[in-house]
Amino acid sequence: MTVTAKPIPMLSDNYSWLLTESGSGKLAIVDPAEAAPAIAAIEAAGGKLDTIFLTHHHGDHIDGVAELVAKYHAQVVGNAADAHRLPKLDLAVHEGDEVPFGAATARVIDTPGHTLGHIAYYFAGGGVLLPGDTLFSLGCGRLFEGTAADMFGAFRKFDALPDETLVCAGHEYTASNAKFALAKDGGNEALQARATEISQLRAEGKPTLPVTLGQERATNPFLRAKTAEEFAELRKAKDSF
Ligand SMILES: [Zn+2]
Repeated sequence: MTVTAKPIPMLSDNYSWLLTESGSGKLAIVDPAEAAPAIAAIEAAGGKLDTIFLTHHHGDHIDGVAELVAKYHAQVVGNAADAHRLPKLDLAVHEGDEVPFGAATARVIDTPGHTLGHIAYYFAGGGVLLPGDTLFSLGCGRLFEGTAADMFGAFRKFDALPDETLVCAGHEYTASNAKFALAKDGGNEALQARATEISQLRAEGKPTLPVTLGQERATNPFLRAKTAEEFAELRKAKDSF
């Protein structure tokens, strides 16, 4: 069994993700900012929604949930610690929990930093990581609630995941992240090649995601930071870049 992930553009630069589990044909939606684009994608894929996975409480990740639940009666999964500010959860999860999705399993990874209750989901079969607003291609989320040390720690949890893992992040920020990354690490040839690829993809109106974790390890300055202090300095510099 494998899980495939398809980006569904929402609002100006959000991605919700449509997940399909090949063994059962079950569908899930991750972080629906809006209902209409999610419904269009679900109907094109068979018209039944099994699960809604939520990474954090921001409106641009949850505002489509109520309409999707009313239409499809899907199970809503989110962080137990943030249940008070998420839509009503059918399954409230914690770090390390394994959530069945058809024949596959999503492992819950606590990833505080962007918000304190932020979680990511990882499907080992098929190697799909849903880091929400924690890890972006060539960047990372803003620190609204947690500290740089929190997010640095969250990134270390990604260290155990294989290079071929597909990173399915919550925003199309890659082109602007590339400018900052090049300013910090301009001599990095893998980064130069990725920047060229990003320009081509965006010129064609295509998503730059998913990207492999191996690619990010070679190019993303935040994932490459060696210490929490280095990470903090990068995040501070990016905030005013
Ligand atoms: Zn957010």
